Order: sequence, then structure tokens, then C-alpha cells
Amino acid sequence: MFVGHYAVGLAAKQFAPRTSLGVLIAAPILLDLLWPIFLLIGWEHVSIVESVNPFLRLQFDSYPLSHGLVAVVGWATLFASVYFGFARQLAGAITVWFLVLSHWLMDYIVHRPDLPLYAGSSRLLGLGLWNRRWATIAVELSLLAAGIAIYAFRTRAKDKIGEFGFWAFVAVIVALYGAVVFGPPPPSINKLAIGALLSLLFVPWAWWFDSHREPRVVGAGTGPVTSSAPD
Ligand SMILES: [Zn+2]
Repeated sequence: MFVGHYAVGLAAKQFAPRTSLGVLIAAPILLDLLWPIFLLIGWEHVSIVESVNPFLRLQFDSYPLSHGLVAVVGWATLFASVYFGFARQLAGAITVWFLVLSHWLMDYIVHRPDLPLYAGSSRLLGLGLWNRRWATIAVELSLLAAGIAIYAFRTRAKDKIGEFGFWAFVAVIVALYGAVVFGPPPPSINKLAIGALLSLLFVPWAWWFDSHREPRVVGAGTGPVTSSAPD
């Protein structure tokens, strides 16, 4: 899953309107930010294999620290606790917890059985939607469209940065997805890991344009929205 994780972050604005989109994007992609670090350290392992299906070019040999369900619950709890410690927003912290966990659940739908429950567990899980390339693309783009719609409906641009920063963000995510689906396989594990780490840049970018947007008043006569405190 790739753009689906971003879709979930955008949609989460529904439940945590006062939480920066930077946090709401960081949470669902957290596991895929930890994973390249563990790859580079050598704690986790992946192989690049030949396949005409672009989703099946990575063989996840071992990744219990970043993608084992027990560890993921730990990462979710850690991330939500840190967020709550800084922001003191319970709704935001609970949303963040579910967002980190959502990554594993969405990966479970698309991955072939390679997701462990915990380190050393021999049982590997995954429903394998990736075997069906066009179904995967349809599901991910539908999720992204829904996420964009919810975010655009729940927030309103205060200025041009809020407007164009958001749509440029969407355009870049879609372009990168196109590169994954139609482009060449990753040349090496190191380059794959560095590329994955670069998605960290989406976090400050999301924070930036989101800070130039504000919650939209939903429905008529609900009164003005109270101004939000900075996170
Ligand atoms: Zn993942």
C-alpha cells in the first residue's frame, strides 16, 4: 500500500480537525519510515525480485520490528503518547494511535503472506491484493480520492499556500505512485531505502500547507469556528 496510507491521513482530519496534517500523515506512514532505517542498519531484510507486476518486485524477507503486529501496537502507543505529551489533545492522540495501526491493516490487505505477528513468529499474514495489479490501483486511487474529498471538505484554504500547497502535495503523491506502478524496479536496496526515507519530506510539507488552512464550517448556522491553538 502506498497512496492508501496518505488517503487515511487526509481523511483523519474528520476525527482530529485540530491536529496538524503533518502529524496525521506521519502516523500512517511511520512504519514505512522506520523500515528503511532498519534496512540500512541491517536489522530487517528485503530482496528485489523480477516480476512484471510492479507490486511484487519486493520480497519482504524479514521485517518484524517495523511490520510485526505486536511491534506496531508498540509504535502506535509510543507515537500517540509523544503526540499527547506535546499537544495535550486526546482526540488527536487516539486518532494518531489508530492511524499508525491502520498501516498494518492496509498492508495486510495488499501484501502476500509476509507480515509477521511478532519477531520469530512463523505465521505470516497477508490477503495478497497485490497479486491483482489493476484492482490494487483501483482501490488505492479510490481511497486517495475519498481522502482528498474529506480533507478538502473539512478544511478551507486561508491563502494561496493553503490552496496550491495542498494540490501540489496531491499531484506529487499521484506522480510518485505512477512512477512506482509504471517505472523501473528499484536499482538497489540502498537506493530503495533512501527513496523510502525521502517520503519523510511529506510530513513538514503537509504541516506547512495545513497551517495555511482552517477547519471549514459545516452546514449553515453552526456559527463561527473557534480559532485553534497551535500544536
Ligand atoms: Zn508498510
